[in-house]
Amino acid sequence: MTDREIPDDVLDCIIIGAGPAGLTAALYASRSAMKTLILEGSSTVSQVTVTDMVENYPGIPEVSGFDLHDRLRTQALAFGATAKMEDVISMENTPLGLSHGWTVNTNIASYRALSVIAATGARWRSLGVPGEKELMGRGISYCATCDGPFYRDRSVAVVGGGNTAVQEALYLTKFAEKVTIVHRRDRLRAAAILQDRAFSNEKIDFCWDGIVERIEGTGGVSGLRVKKMKGNGEYVTLPVEGVFIFIGLDPLTEYLMGVVNTDKDGYIIADSRMRTSEKGVFAAGDCIAKSLRQIVTACGDGATAAYEAELYVDELKGRPY
Ligand SMILES: Cc1cc2nc3c(=O)[nH]c(=O)nc-3n(C[C@H](O)[C@H](O)[C@H](O)COP(=O)(O)OP(=O)(O)OC[C@H]3O[C@@H](n4cnc5c(N)ncnc54)[C@H](O)[C@@H]3O)c2cc1C
Repeated sequence: MTDREIPDDVLDCIIIGAGPAGLTAALYASRSAMKTLILEGSSTVSQVTVTDMVENYPGIPEVSGFDLHDRLRTQALAFGATAKMEDVISMENTPLGLSHGWTVNTNIASYRALSVIAATGARWRSLGVPGEKELMGRGISYCATCDGPFYRDRSVAVVGGGNTAVQEALYLTKFAEKVTIVHRRDRLRAAAILQDRAFSNEKIDFCWDGIVERIEGTGGVSGLRVKKMKGNGEYVTLPVEGVFIFIGLDPLTEYLMGVVNTDKDGYIIADSRMRTSEKGVFAAGDCIAKSLRQIVTACGDGATAAYEAELYVDELKGRPY
């Protein structure tokens, strides 16, 4: 197929999501002269924008999440990508002349492209208790790797009892003076080896059968109010300066359910070249099944996805590298 046979309105690449993954993909795609549209979502935001301080992005020792996002976005748009604040609702395979492409439907319009990069991230489950929204980023965190070092020699609580919660609690003992795991049951759900490590770690305490009622503090966290489910249902207030919540993470991938293969939790399955089960659809960042969800890994995925999308589109157009 040649360029002439592709209708004018068909883009080379649509990138869904404008977090580190999507914006890095946009930077690489537009810098390679691909006609690129970023659909950046109107009812969601990138996790980076709610991150107070980032100090593990290589080469930038300290930057606010908001600033980093702003820089990534400015850099991506400088090479000609356009961005629209629209929520993607669905997408489908579309015949395009002699080839095939994708139609992406948002709450406002539909767009056609030869390739799509899904980079819609994931959302940490929140407790939904008073104080959580107000103190977000000021003592409340959903990421120990990101925020643990801010709690050197302080007392923190970890809410949850699964693998992530226990693993992150163990990680936090590197910094914190004391880590209290608050769990709504009387036993952990984590793997036995993690449980063994947690039980034998002197810095870790447990608050069993505890349901978080409220996170206390003004300007910063000063305590965690917990209702004990067994006994008389009394309340305890843990005097902590940090609360790490690990009660699950949900990928934002509803719009492509049934379109590409996902794992049982809804994370997109992508290979090391960021290819999904469907030709022309690539995925990057926190929305894919992988082990480390961080800014730096999202950026790496985004760059790879854009590079692979470019190779794919060039081949469709009949001018491979
Ligand atoms: C509180 C907190 C602190 C963190 N601190 C750090 C840290 O210090 N260091 C670090 O490396 N990592 C940190 N992380 C993790 C890091 O933010 C993520 O790994 C990273 O943002 C993932 O990038 P992403 O582009 O995959 O997803 P996101 O940044 O979540 O971006 C997803 C994008 O997709 C958009 N979107 C979602 N659904 C749709 C849709 N249907 N249609 C259109 N757009 C959509 C969203 O609006 C957003 O633009 C932190 C996370 C949190 C929550």
